[in-house]
Amino acid sequence: MGRYVGPSCKLCRRERTKLFLKGTRCETAKCAMEQRNFPPGVHGQRRTKEKRYGNQLRERQKARRIYGVGEKQFRNYFHRAERSPGLTGDNLLCLLERRLDNVVFRLGFATSRNQGRQLVTHRHFRVNGKFVNIPSYLVRVGDGISVKEKSRSLKVIKDAVEIGAAREVREWMVLDVDGMEGKIVRLPNRQDITIPVQEELIVALYSRS
Ligand code: SF4
Repeated sequence: MGRYVGPSCKLCRRERTKLFLKGTRCETAKCAMEQRNFPPGVHGQRRTKEKRYGNQLRERQKARRIYGVGEKQFRNYFHRAERSPGLTGDNLLCLLERRLDNVVFRLGFATSRNQGRQLVTHRHFRVNGKFVNIPSYLVRVGDGISVKEKSRSLKVIKDAVEIGAAREVREWMVLDVDGMEGKIVRLPNRQDITIPVQEELIVALYSRS
C-alpha cells in the first residue's frame, strides 16, 4: 500500500492526540485537536470500550503516523529492533528516530517530519558531504548533515531554521545554525525520544503473531 496522502489532522483526531504532522499550524488555535478532540466520522463521539488488542493497534498506528512509515517498513524496523541487543521497544524507537527525515526535523531544518521528508527527497541535504535523497536513510554516530549551499537561501528552510532556533536541539546531536549543519554525537536513547507512544504495547502486538 502506498503512503497516506489524506488529511493529516484526521490522523491526530483518530489517535486522540497531537501528532504534530503540520509544522507551525500544530502550535496554533487552528489545530483541529483544539477544536474537535474526538475521532472523525459520524460515530466519532460515541463512547468506546477500551480493549487490549485495540490499544496495541492504536499505539502502532500512532508511531507509524508520527514517523510517516508504512506498515511493511514498520514491521521491518521491528524485526531489526528484535535482533539487536537491548529492549526491543527502545531499539524500535531509536531506529525510527535515526531516519534522515526525522533528523532534519529535529535539527530544525524543517517544521515537520513530512516537510523534512520532502526536502530530503528534493536533494537539499548532504550527509558527510554526499547528497542523500532517501528519507529512511539511518544516520550513524559521527555523521554530519548539512544543507546544500544553494538551498541555504530557500525561504522554507530559512523560516524553519528561525522557528527551530527556539526549539531545543536533542542531546544526541549538535547544531551549527550559522553553518547550517548538524552532527550526530551519539545514538538516541528512550529518554531523548519524547513522542507519546507506549512502545511496550507495540512489542506485545507483534509478539502475538
Ligand atoms: Fe495534528 Fe497538527 Fe492537525 Fe493539530 S494541526 S490536528 S497537531 S496535524
